[in-house]
Amino acid sequence: MKDRVYIRDLKDHTGKEVVIAGWVDVRRDQGKMVFFDMRDMTGKVQCVALPSRAEVIEKAKTIRPEWVLKITGNVNKRPLKNVKEGVLNGDVELEVTGIEVLNESETPPFAVNEDTSGVNEELRLKYRYVDLRTDRMQKNIRNRHRVLKFIRDFLSNEGFIEVETPILTKSTPEGSRDFVVPARLYPGKFYALPQSPQQYKQLLMTGGVEKYFQIARCMRDEDTRGDRQPEFTQLDLEMSFVEMEDVMQVNEKLFIELVQKLYPEKKIQQIPFPRIPHKEAMEKYGVDKPDIRKDKNDPNLLAFCWIVDWPFFEKTEEGGWTFTHNPFSRPLPEHLDWLMKKENIEKIYTTQYDIILNGSEVGGGSIRNHNGPALEKVFEIMGHKIENIRKNFGHMMTAFSLGTPPHGGIAWGFDRFFMILQNEINIREVIPFAKTGEGRDPMMDSPSEISDEQLKELKIKLSK
Ligand code: ASP
Repeated sequence: MKDRVYIRDLKDHTGKEVVIAGWVDVRRDQGKMVFFDMRDMTGKVQCVALPSRAEVIEKAKTIRPEWVLKITGNVNKRPLKNVKEGVLNGDVELEVTGIEVLNESETPPFAVNEDTSGVNEELRLKYRYVDLRTDRMQKNIRNRHRVLKFIRDFLSNEGFIEVETPILTKSTPEGSRDFVVPARLYPGKFYALPQSPQQYKQLLMTGGVEKYFQIARCMRDEDTRGDRQPEFTQLDLEMSFVEMEDVMQVNEKLFIELVQKLYPEKKIQQIPFPRIPHKEAMEKYGVDKPDIRKDKNDPNLLAFCWIVDWPFFEKTEEGGWTFTHNPFSRPLPEHLDWLMKKENIEKIYTTQYDIILNGSEVGGGSIRNHNGPALEKVFEIMGHKIENIRKNFGHMMTAFSLGTPPHGGIAWGFDRFFMILQNEINIREVIPFAKTGEGRDPMMDSPSEISDEQLKELKIKLSK
């Protein structure tokens, strides 16, 4: 829009006529005058229509909240007694000289000029595009961008490159159920959506990338979701020629700098972050993600800790073994021999490190097995048949036989980490287009049925 001034910058135009554009926040009729607040992506300003401009005041009386307007007006200093200290445009207002209605709006399903945390969530998610206009949601969405940008810049400076990995992929054991996509060209076959980029990022290490990261979308089809989302965002990274401390230290540096630069009001309880062995955490706190905050009522206190020395395997209900974190992990060097001999299985510790923040797990990773026989042993211990291991993970074995460097990495549950930074209590508040706790999207109405033609094309028959 020609000559448009952003509301944040109005002060620089005091005494001049400007054009702004945005939404009507509230309207207040006061006797002969009409006041209304206008809002754009940069902030709000009070507009006033004076009785001396008959045409303007007539139009001002018709406008309603959430209408989209282009306003021409003079930026005036407010009389001293009306100045609002510490508020954007608290000392100026716009004397309206012209109103152009760009679009009208029905009465919104809930008030936009108030915090919507008390509004029915189904309704908020159905009209998410309206919800996103509120102050709090604008802050969440804009700070999300700033945090992601900080991460991208930091990691780029550390020599990492961002690489996109496929979304249409193959089932990978990440401890959850896969979402699958039927492959029309291969009737009866399915792609799986990634539970994480785990295998691809390891293969990038074989590919000589050495330092990879990705802001990666992950999909997991879980039964009881609670505060989980079927799709969520990870900061995923992987590095070659590293040991546990190398990965932990670069992440710790990133956490610290990010908090200090973007959330200066917050303080980190302890630097370097304490490293607590899993056994000690269980004995001392009774949980594997301890909340070690000295003051749990301080909204600005961030207590990070690393949990290390995790058991590699745990018993399944059927009496077999399963991995506790990640089947691709390498045991601690001193336990590798046990793995290879399949001895003392309950005593084998993995190189896993989890990062805990205020009692929430916000990430985890490990050093990986970079040779075939060790990976094969992990799956053998879990009772997989050798043919199946080769069928499912043959590509990893082959890659490992073709010059894969030692490597390790981590993934942050980005939404949860960011939720804590924003002092929100549920991740749906920080995911722009979140699904309900039951995994539905009330706005798009998904999941939804597909047509008979689509099913036919896919050669899929539904059983009743
Ligand atoms: N891929 C793992 C996960 O999604 C994280 C990692 O070990 O890097 O939990």
